[in-house]
Amino acid sequence: FTKTVYLPLKKITAGAMEYADGNLDYSIRVKTTDEMGYLANTLNYMSSELNKLEEYQKAFIANVSHEFKTPLAAIQGCAALLQDDTLSPSERRQYADLIYNSAKRLSVLSTNILELSRLEHSKVTVERSSFSLDEQLRHALLVLQSDWQQKDIELDLDLQERTYYGSDELLMQVWLNLLGNAIKFSPEGGKVTVLLEKLPAAVAVTVQDEGIGIDEAAQHRIFDKFYQVDTAHKTEGNGLGLAMVKRILDLLQADIEVESQPNQGAAFTVYLPLTVAPKEPKENNSAPLKGS
Ligand code: ADP
Repeated sequence: FTKTVYLPLKKITAGAMEYADGNLDYSIRVKTTDEMGYLANTLNYMSSELNKLEEYQKAFIANVSHEFKTPLAAIQGCAALLQDDTLSPSERRQYADLIYNSAKRLSVLSTNILELSRLEHSKVTVERSSFSLDEQLRHALLVLQSDWQQKDIELDLDLQERTYYGSDELLMQVWLNLLGNAIKFSPEGGKVTVLLEKLPAAVAVTVQDEGIGIDEAAQHRIFDKFYQVDTAHKTEGNGLGLAMVKRILDLLQADIEVESQPNQGAAFTVYLPLTVAPKEPKENNSAPLKGS
């Protein structure tokens, strides 16, 4: 009894106390293959998962603070410079523009963090309705018109007409992110192709560009929060867009694939499950019975 129950239980209790004190690296050493060993293994597994979560939260906070710091420092610096009365109007304008752009970056960043947190932590009810998927893709491109026009991007659309039953609000965010990235990472005058086709088991939407591409190793990380291949921030962004896309597609039970090679462009394909809109309740056309 001492060997099989009392001593293992003592170790397990000591381990549980260590975890309660926040020592999540602690490992309970009960190596038996009975229930006690199983319980110890489960607790060790729980602590390692909690440890990962803690590490993840720390990294998240470090990333958020880092992302906030740069624009805040720019705002502070420019505001200090603007106090100089001898500045020329063009210098004044330049600093004011920098403040405006940094404030805009902060605003996009906080909106994205809040949106991602909403998608991850609250119970998101997916409101579904029937809508035209090809129309929605054209609409997304219209929203981004100034971006692709500024870069003189050629658009090549091959969109089958398709009514889809799903969440138009969530899917719109997916298209805006994928198309936004395709435009952002394209060279001046590059081509962005959008393809919508019905496959036997899914509706596939591909957004393809001829931009800088993504190497194999980075392809595994681009859906992580705050991950950016170019850490020097040469292009605008905060590394949250694709994390949001992935979360939305998980909610919609849809998949995403990326095909790319450095400097050969990138193609993101979203596979939306085929869905059937619920039947409208039939109207009762029979004339009401009239009393005599
Ligand atoms: P960001 O705000 O930086 O665009 P995302 O989460 O949307 O953040 O994308 C993460 C990273 O993945 C980008 O910073 C970029 O390095 C890479 N990436 C995403 N889309 C493309 C693309 N179409 N071409 C090349 N790189 C891309």
